[in-house]
Amino acid sequence: MLQSARTKIVATVGPASQSVDQLCRLIHLGVDVFRLNMAHGNRTGHQAMFDAVAAARDQTAIDIAVLVDLAGPKIRLGDLFAGELELQAGDRLEFIKGQQPNAPHELTCTYLPLVDELEVGHQVLLSDGLIRLQVDSKTADRAICRVIDGGVLRGRQGVNVPGANFSAPALEAADVENARWAVSQGVEYLSLSFVRRPDEILQLKSLIQSLGGTSQVIAKIEKREALDCLDEIVQATDGVMVARGDLGVEIEVEQTPVQQKRIVAACRRYGKPVIVATQMLESMHEHRRPTRAEVSDVANAILDGADACMLSGETAIGLYPNDAVQMMNRIMLETERAYPDREMTGLSERERTTTNITKAMVQGAGRIARQLGAKAVVIVADSLEPARYKSQMRDFIPTIALSGHRHVVRGLALYWGIVPYFAEPQQINGLQKIKAFIGDRARTHWQLADGDRVLLVIDSPENIGQHDWMTVLTVGQD
Ligand code: PEP
Repeated sequence: MLQSARTKIVATVGPASQSVDQLCRLIHLGVDVFRLNMAHGNRTGHQAMFDAVAAARDQTAIDIAVLVDLAGPKIRLGDLFAGELELQAGDRLEFIKGQQPNAPHELTCTYLPLVDELEVGHQVLLSDGLIRLQVDSKTADRAICRVIDGGVLRGRQGVNVPGANFSAPALEAADVENARWAVSQGVEYLSLSFVRRPDEILQLKSLIQSLGGTSQVIAKIEKREALDCLDEIVQATDGVMVARGDLGVEIEVEQTPVQQKRIVAACRRYGKPVIVATQMLESMHEHRRPTRAEVSDVANAILDGADACMLSGETAIGLYPNDAVQMMNRIMLETERAYPDREMTGLSERERTTTNITKAMVQGAGRIARQLGAKAVVIVADSLEPARYKSQMRDFIPTIALSGHRHVVRGLALYWGIVPYFAEPQQINGLQKIKAFIGDRARTHWQLADGDRVLLVIDSPENIGQHDWMTVLTVGQD
């Protein structure tokens, strides 16, 4: 457990992974967070997936977390007039109002004001950017487009219009319904697609709060507008996803590597967890081994400072979900072994220098543990914050976050280097009980040996919630 990769794995659930047995296998291979994508399927399907994940969590007794991914203002084509359409450069297509095409060259979409809001000169990208149209002219109820890059078009594909300033709300009615459902299931993370501004994050946070939920919000960065106010979004959110699939269509694809580094750096600056997502091991949809470029991509995300890497189709619909998770884990372990010392890299001055006692204590814990030759740091907490501060440090001392609250334990699943661990509140009620609990678990659950030192950071009885106590335990003696 303490020897596992510090970087976390997020895996998307789908037909290739949604049986309880398969989910258990993926947990044992290293998945920390399962993503349920609301852009596909319906409530019955989502509920079945959630129930399967919950059953796998019970069976393995490992507190993995669930991330529900809200589709946000994603635009999709409606059904085509006839199945699919083979497009050549120079062909003419027309976006029409309404929901029913009346001829093969007519297109409808899920965003009803599209025709009104498209402008002459806009580029419309379909099929993940493979098909490119240009709006040549408009009438009151049509936007007439010319095909620039052709290909095979199918219904329901995503529609991206880079640079367009659409009036779509951040949360569509379906997103509010899905958020309501996710909160009722107690999910740990809610991600929002196509975030443009920080107030959109605050809107989702206040919805969660009004529903009495504790879910953390993850901002998916995939729009140019979001890149223009990145620092404000990172400050407003609990975490970030570099959603390279849509980002690579909304901006020029060659800009994505530099933007990825910029987004990860902003998250490091503010101490927020960040997931690098999409096409990380894409070829493993169909092959047991990844390409060399994909292996480098995962390694580079780790070196950039990501907290987690995400698998999408690889685990949702791919032929080799187990191999993909195993491979990602292997790359993480190898890369981390080669670059173990990245302590404090990228943390802003504000995050490093603090008068907050809890923060100073846990930030110093890694260094003290190293000086004392301690094998682990144990932080006992009722909230996410103490372990989040420790995770920011990126020191390699294994860190167990011990809590009597399930939502805290599961809510830490995404945080780099943190091993969340649940204890019944009465088992860790007071220093003597905490010592006994650690002594009991050290050898059997945490691969520690007699004589190993453990640095314990807790709040004192006089200052509940403030981690102002640190003590050293010796396994087998305390
Ligand atoms: C992405 O666009 O990279 C992404 C993660 O979102 P989705 O899988 O919903 O397209």
